[in-house]
Amino acid sequence: MNGSGSVARSHLEVEEWLRASLPDAWVACVDAGRSPGSASRYPDFDEAAWLAEMFDRRYLMASWPAVYGGLGWSPEMARAAFEALSRYEVPLPLYVTSLLLAGHGLLQHGTAEQRHRFLPKMATASEIWCQLFSEPEAGSDLASLRTRAERDTAGWVVTGQKVWSTWAHFARWGLLLARTGTAESRHRGITCFVVDMESPGIEVRPLRQLTGDASFNEVFMDQVPVDDSMRLGGVDEGWNVARSVLQAERGELGQRRVGGADIHRLIDRHRGKAGPEARQRLAARYAQERILGWMAWRGYGRGLEAQAVKLLRAEANMALQSLAVSLEGPRAGARDGAEAETAEIVYGFLRSRANSIAGGTSEIMRNVIGEQLLGLPREPRPAAGAGGPER
Ligand SMILES: Cc1cc2nc3c(=O)[nH]c(=O)nc-3n(C[C@H](O)[C@H](O)[C@H](O)COP(=O)(O)OP(=O)(O)OC[C@H]3O[C@@H](n4cnc5c(N)ncnc54)[C@H](O)[C@@H]3O)c2cc1C
Repeated sequence: MNGSGSVARSHLEVEEWLRASLPDAWVACVDAGRSPGSASRYPDFDEAAWLAEMFDRRYLMASWPAVYGGLGWSPEMARAAFEALSRYEVPLPLYVTSLLLAGHGLLQHGTAEQRHRFLPKMATASEIWCQLFSEPEAGSDLASLRTRAERDTAGWVVTGQKVWSTWAHFARWGLLLARTGTAESRHRGITCFVVDMESPGIEVRPLRQLTGDASFNEVFMDQVPVDDSMRLGGVDEGWNVARSVLQAERGELGQRRVGGADIHRLIDRHRGKAGPEARQRLAARYAQERILGWMAWRGYGRGLEAQAVKLLRAEANMALQSLAVSLEGPRAGARDGAEAETAEIVYGFLRSRANSIAGGTSEIMRNVIGEQLLGLPREPRPAAGAGGPER
């Protein structure tokens, strides 16, 4: 399928399925321009079964070639499918991001064998992936990473530590950046590997977050064997993979809200009760969310612009969740024992604090926008002579 007719058809196909598979009350909310709220509000809705069918239909990976488990749809058609999913506010698990990113890395840099081996299982979410990039001393300045991969007769052995590795505690595979050049080689001496998370020598330790969840981890690697067939891209060329994966991550993070209630739900909650000041603040957030929605729909945010959309989305959601808590008033002071909706609002506020850090901090987004998109003078680098790029 090609052209706008096929875009409309892909939207229609997804929408028809959504209307048939979601509870009637859910669809009625969407039709009335209201937020359906979380899946837990629909006791008869079998979320796990619904998700399994959605993955089976490949709507999330619709742009991947059919041979790798996608539908072979054009980017515009895939965006139309995603827009329909977003409009019905379906519960997309957060591990979708790691699947899309690892998938992007494999599609761009993997061999045909690697793609055939990994992509179909990613498309159905039967194998979860994690991203093993950040280290305790290498977050924004990722090019300073120290985890080492040394050659041995069978391939490579990897030793080092990663941190903030989301879903590593139930990932089957990890996309790893390791140093293969000298300590000073920075971005020129990094190689990307696919690591079997069940390998000997890997220890995953969950970290507790502000929200109380433990969705990310420390990952310790001690002499972990990695076959050379698991190398993604050339030796010492992992920075290219890292950059394209990070760009895709920012594009993805710019497409949807991570954490907290959406603006429609907030308006529903305060409809008829909000005073003039609250109404002004809600209207300002509403305008911003609409603009972000249109930008995502038009595909704005590919390439370097992804940093700008990621930044806007992060800051907008943090402001939205702060407003939600502030309108809640003193009720939001205690999450434990609060009414369910208040507890969800406080949770969303706490979760949204990570928006300006995950996938590259807002400060780094501003640096990249200034230097690479607008051509402004470069920021001073952390250490004299360190040279290399940030994330
Ligand atoms: C929810 C969440 C999930 C994550 N998941 C993953 C994952 O799955 N895999 C993974 O590899 N990583 C993951 N990360 C890590 C994330 O990429 C890093 O936290 C992020 O890049 C920042 O690195 P850092 O935490 O080391 O902070 P630092 O780099 O130490 O930065 C500290 C502060 O200094 C500022 N700063 C640093 N350098 C500059 C500069 N040059 N100019 C201006 N300000 C600067 C930063 O903006 C920040 O405010 C995740 C993080 C979060 C919050």
